[in-house]
Amino acid sequence: MTTGSSLLILGQGADPASERGVSCPGELPPASDPALVERARAAKAALGDRLFVLGHHYQRDEVIQFADVTGDSFKLAQEAAARPQAPYIVFCGVHFMAESADILTSADQQVVLPDLAAGCSMADMATYDQVEECWEVLEDAGIAGDVVPITYMNSSADIKAFVGRHGGVVCTSSNARRALEWAFAKGSKVLFLPDQHLGRNTAVLEMGLSLDDCVVYSPNRPDGGLSTAELRDATMILWRGHCSVHGRFSLDSVNEVRARIPGVNVLVHPECRHEVVRAADLIGSTEYIIRTIEEAPAGTAWAVGTELNLVKRLAGRHPDKTVVFLDRTVCFCSTMNRIDLPHLVWSLESLARGEVVNQITVEPETAHYARVALDRMLALP
Ligand code: SF4
Repeated sequence: MTTGSSLLILGQGADPASERGVSCPGELPPASDPALVERARAAKAALGDRLFVLGHHYQRDEVIQFADVTGDSFKLAQEAAARPQAPYIVFCGVHFMAESADILTSADQQVVLPDLAAGCSMADMATYDQVEECWEVLEDAGIAGDVVPITYMNSSADIKAFVGRHGGVVCTSSNARRALEWAFAKGSKVLFLPDQHLGRNTAVLEMGLSLDDCVVYSPNRPDGGLSTAELRDATMILWRGHCSVHGRFSLDSVNEVRARIPGVNVLVHPECRHEVVRAADLIGSTEYIIRTIEEAPAGTAWAVGTELNLVKRLAGRHPDKTVVFLDRTVCFCSTMNRIDLPHLVWSLESLARGEVVNQITVEPETAHYARVALDRMLALP
């Protein structure tokens, strides 16, 4: 069993035990090299069908142009699994996504993350040791037998494996409601990891629970900061985790954009805070957001509460519509942005030389139980 790890502060050394180095183990080409695009093209052409490049929607344009397929984390893992002929999968996304791709692909396929510092602050908010300790708290409260754990896709393989071992399921932002329905058919309580906002928004807005049915378990406080009575009374035990990008949107952002652009439609991701989601017109996953903008009539205006690379791309693709970022402050996902053209060129050229760099592997027992939780998700009605 591997254990989770916190992200290093960028620029401060490396931690080999956690697979999260910030220093590239090879010779990175300089960002100023005018031949980077040509070099990436040439390395990709040399690798041909042996290579499959996956690009998450939140990646930079300079990287996404080389993706064979783009998507959210779950779609990309499925795409990787559907390409057994490609021995090299280069994942332009973050660490937990590359882990899921490794779990879902065959033993002959190697998954490469161009920069190992591309983690996810939300996934890092729930470590294996913390979740085990939480389970002991639930056992001591006498309720563990009633609790079904659910983890969002945005969690480490360790956490997915924990959930798989304890009869739970993985969910995405598209199927969180179905996962909750499945869980409540099995038990009377849910432990929702690691995103409190997705858990709360789905439970309250889609399942009809009240905010009073939800408690927040704080991993850094004794017993999660909750009394035994609070745990026994709760229906949803939400892990105190959040996305540092989506968590930044506020009610002020919504009010400000409505005042600035009359008639604007506010479209947000369910990782946003509850009051933001409540004030929005439409809520949905990244794929839903893209589809909604694509299908919107010309002349309509949209303020979108999700990662800035994607919003800028949507605005560029739909000049017949007004598409703006929900907040006035710049809000890229800094760890997604770690994957840049120099790292991509370095990893592709290394593979073209037959050298596999920055490979992400999940150890077999963890992969087995994580797969159990992922397969339960795939079997959701
Ligand atoms: S956008 Fe949020 S959830 Fe997604 S990788 Fe970045 S920090 Fe993690």
